[in-house]
Amino acid sequence: MNKAVRVRFAPSPTGGLHIGGLRTALFNYLFAKKHGGTFILRIEDTDQKRYVEGAEEYIAQSLKWAGLSPEESPEVGGEFVPYRQSERTKIYQKYAQELLEAGKAYYAFDTAEELDAMRRKLEAAKVVFQYNAITRMQMKNSLTLSAEEVKARIEAGENYTIRFKIPVQQEVILNDLIRGKIKIQSHTLDDKVLMKSDGLPTYHLANVVDDYLMKISHVIRGEEWLPSLPLHVLLYKALGFEESMPAFAHLPLIMKPSGKGKLSKRDAEKGNFPIFPLDWTDPKTGNKTDGFKEAGYLPEALINFLGLLGWNPGTEQELFTIEELTEAFSLERVTKAGSKFDPEKLKWFNQQYLRHRSDSELAQIFTKELEARKITYQETPKLERIASLVKERITFMADLWEQGAYFFETPQSYDEKVIKKRWTQDAVTGLSMYVDILESWQGDFDTQASKEELNTQLTAKEMKIGKVMQPLRVALTGQGVGADIVEVMDILGKDEMAKRIKIALEKLKDNVK
Ligand code: GLU
Repeated sequence: MNKAVRVRFAPSPTGGLHIGGLRTALFNYLFAKKHGGTFILRIEDTDQKRYVEGAEEYIAQSLKWAGLSPEESPEVGGEFVPYRQSERTKIYQKYAQELLEAGKAYYAFDTAEELDAMRRKLEAAKVVFQYNAITRMQMKNSLTLSAEEVKARIEAGENYTIRFKIPVQQEVILNDLIRGKIKIQSHTLDDKVLMKSDGLPTYHLANVVDDYLMKISHVIRGEEWLPSLPLHVLLYKALGFEESMPAFAHLPLIMKPSGKGKLSKRDAEKGNFPIFPLDWTDPKTGNKTDGFKEAGYLPEALINFLGLLGWNPGTEQELFTIEELTEAFSLERVTKAGSKFDPEKLKWFNQQYLRHRSDSELAQIFTKELEARKITYQETPKLERIASLVKERITFMADLWEQGAYFFETPQSYDEKVIKKRWTQDAVTGLSMYVDILESWQGDFDTQASKEELNTQLTAKEMKIGKVMQPLRVALTGQGVGADIVEVMDILGKDEMAKRIKIALEKLKDNVK
């Protein structure tokens, strides 16, 4: 690549950040890092009607949480400040003026009612309204009004927009790095508004001008922007920026779990999974939308999952750190087809990454829970062993306590199914024998040896240890299944085991079958 790689994530602060937006940020980030380039955050806030208070901060925090911090942004600054479009109005006005002077754009004075009347008139003739080479000559604009009238209207403070004059009969050739070459005829395009009557630019003008001025080398964004590309290419040409036009890559849509249609916020609500990185509260309605962070997802799990949403390494490998994703990433392997959002697969990634978290980090969660419950438990090394045992069995951090609570509290209840089936006379005999073994143990306790001793004594009575082990688990943990039982026994220790077995024998004395 001969041009320095500079890519941008350019969200509009209109609310929380949809998972698709985070994926766009990730692919930009990966591409930048892979090529030793720069990842930029630019805030596209020129649409005042859609502006939402707090959304920009939310986006910045979300990127931070996900580990996708930009090198240039409104917050950190950079060579091309400002990075917030609302602070760049003068720049866009200058370029709009240039286009006007070159006859590539024009003033339009049509009111909403007039536009609507034209739309209805054409609809009656079964034509879809476009402001184009034909209709523009029937509307109120600087192409149809005299120069004096245009001047007079502007001076009188009349509302106007500036529209782009789509050149006639041009074939526009688009090169998309993912979709290949696309050809469009210019007569199919609309004379889009470049400057609105409030003096602010539309997305199209601001986006193209800024990508040029900020020396963006590659525009990597969602597929929903592909229809705007012909207009953007024509704008690059009209502004004389064609030589430095970035390369374009439009990422596939993220689809519903069913694969049918684009993933929406409603799908997330229905399927009971988050869709925003962090909790988001709409400042106007007060409505709260759940975030992955608060729901217990680890950023590295979400990143790994998103990395594989629309891109694949071409191998069977599924687990990737962000560094490994960077290493393997290429736009050539981004798929054209939309990819399904599978919430179960995301949970699987979360499980995998929880296992990678250190035992001491997870042990701290136990420490906090114990403090909150006012349970005293001094043995840090044991907490780490418990974390190590339990982490194999959890999907979210919050499951940790639920899965490990029995190490700190005598079970209050016992798995009914197991009791019904396995709390037999043999089991009770075996458990009583084990209590004796535990209580008469001399010297250093050895869990495995104590279990072997029980086996020996049972065999002598022609009984099987297999009949005792599950009841023993239930007596110790309350549960029918769980972590490796010898490990559990070892952590509980001889006195605690004896105590718990006696409690269970007493509590369940009427359940023996
Ligand atoms: N502001 C646009 C958005 O909200 C940016 C699209 C682009 O990347 O060009 O997604």
